[in-house]
Amino acid sequence: MSPEEMEQKEEMVLSMCICSSCPSWVECDEKGGYCLPAIGKSNCITDESGCICGGCPVTEELRLKNVYFCTRGSEKEQLGM
Ligand code: SF4
Ligand code: SF4
Repeated sequence: MSPEEMEQKEEMVLSMCICSSCPSWVECDEKGGYCLPAIGKSNCITDESGCICGGCPVTEELRLKNVYFCTRGSEKEQLGM
């Protein structure tokens, strides 16, 4: 994927991300999108108090298998890729 395509993908994911409505969300300078390898784990969310990624359009769009990307790492990281 070219840098432009990666940027477009990140913008698409951030525009659909529902992390800020999640019970585990911690308000800081982050915008979500933790499922993407370019973003990955959060630096401010540490407690797993529920994850709503399953209800996010990105999960369907990118056929994600995992949850808790903010604490456990991106989809690729959790798949061991
Ligand atoms: S799947 Fe989760 S981390 Fe990824 S964009 Fe949706 S809510 Fe955010
Ligand atoms: S990755 Fe999941 S647990 Fe973390 S903030 Fe987003 S929806 Fe909540």
